[in-house]
Amino acid sequence: MLLYNSLSHEKEEFIPHVPGKVSMYTCGPTVYHYAHIGNLRTYMMEDVLDKYLRYLGYDVTRVMNITDVGHLTGDSDEGEDKMLQGAKRERKTVLEIAKFYTDAFFEDCKKLNIRIPERVEPATGCIDDFIRVISSLLEKGYAYEAGGNIYFDTSKLDKYYVFHGFREEDLAVGVRDGVEEDGNKRSQADFVLWFTKSKFDSQELKWESPWGVGYPGWHIECSCISMKHLGEYLDIHCGGIDNAFPHHTNEIAQSEAYLGHPWCKYWMHVLHLNTKSGKMSKSKGEFLTVSLLESKGYDPLEYRFFCLGSHYRKSLVFTWENLENAAIAYRKLKARIDKLQPAPGEEYDEAGAAPHKAAFRAALDNDLNTSLAVTAVYDVLKAPLNATTKLALLRDFDTVLGLNLVAENGKEEPQNAADSVGGTLTREEIEAAIAARLEAKKNKNYAEADRIRASLAEQGITLTDTPSGTTYTVL
Ligand code: AMP
Ligand code: ZN
Repeated sequence: MLLYNSLSHEKEEFIPHVPGKVSMYTCGPTVYHYAHIGNLRTYMMEDVLDKYLRYLGYDVTRVMNITDVGHLTGDSDEGEDKMLQGAKRERKTVLEIAKFYTDAFFEDCKKLNIRIPERVEPATGCIDDFIRVISSLLEKGYAYEAGGNIYFDTSKLDKYYVFHGFREEDLAVGVRDGVEEDGNKRSQADFVLWFTKSKFDSQELKWESPWGVGYPGWHIECSCISMKHLGEYLDIHCGGIDNAFPHHTNEIAQSEAYLGHPWCKYWMHVLHLNTKSGKMSKSKGEFLTVSLLESKGYDPLEYRFFCLGSHYRKSLVFTWENLENAAIAYRKLKARIDKLQPAPGEEYDEAGAAPHKAAFRAALDNDLNTSLAVTAVYDVLKAPLNATTKLALLRDFDTVLGLNLVAENGKEEPQNAADSVGGTLTREEIEAAIAARLEAKKNKNYAEADRIRASLAEQGITLTDTPSGTTYTVL
């Protein structure tokens, strides 16, 4: 498969570190508000990559963080903590906000057929890992303490601006343009690893550290959570294009300084979904969420169909008219598929199916050309194949496209991977067990709480208690 790598600015043959296995990291949401449909475009295109790698037979392990601390309104350490902003806006605690919007995010993912990664880890659950890596960076001379905070020293690197698609001076201007310059930084490109002297005294979540009570910077969380679960060599790191700088640039700087060797091979960045007036926003104009689409009568999968119609490396303009056109096309497509009725005794035509499978693969092998993959769906419908073969092909393609193409045929329901995350348990069942354990703990029935934990562990589900609630990972 050819995959565009933001590091080399070229499409490269995808070759993972370990043959047959892929480690993939996704920057997760900052859970201070609902995700807008732009954020979800990024998660959807990453989902297609994840599913296509599985389709090709790779054993994929995917990890995603939940940013519930440390992400400031300005990506270069300026402004206010977004979580605190959310808490103030809704007069709730940061933990309440984190729990509410984490759940809302997964609900949206479910509606959009976005598979939940194997491991989802909130930043607040990994404070010890951050402290360990920051301590090592200090020991190795890559970090310094100033004004009570710990900073990464970018001057220690031969090459800091790794994504050379950006002009170095533009990036530096971005940093200089920050509303408040941080006088503690030796160079304005340096970034915070750990805050102790917060400029906002009201910061709710703080932890003990060797440098005083404080909280982590945003960038360190993704490096640490990735290394914790996926080891020293990462195959693919994904995110929206705005993450390339400074977030991913800083992740590379600190991970490679810590490890002493190259860290991640392929960087996949999804271009933005914009409105006609420009950048999509959660505060100005219409706040475009999945619920808003639903309230206007759209099926979230019509939005997925809209996104798959264009390449992830092109920015996409959202208008209601564009969505309406995609929705009409999707409904027509589904209606055509619904009409397919296999005749009794009809057999799957393997030879007839082969060129269609090849066309579908060729599309996605070429840097995930989803719009051509959708064309392959139409070509199946037009082809002189029997209904059994057409339906089998459509089910096969849909394991990657996630459009529920054959769902209403009354046959096999395409599986929403988000429903079945571990062994035989569904996400709802795991969440119910977590709630029952919490109730048992509240009633001081620790034996029952332990029994629930052990019973989940037997099914490969590990629970982690964090300040913002219990999370789980699936083996
Ligand atoms: P956040 O919750 O702000 O940390 O962002 C979640 C993800 O959405 C990140 O990967 C961002 O790069 C991505 N993102 C932010 N804005 C957009 C947009 N307008 N279109 C597509 N992706 C976006
Ligand atoms: Zn990240």
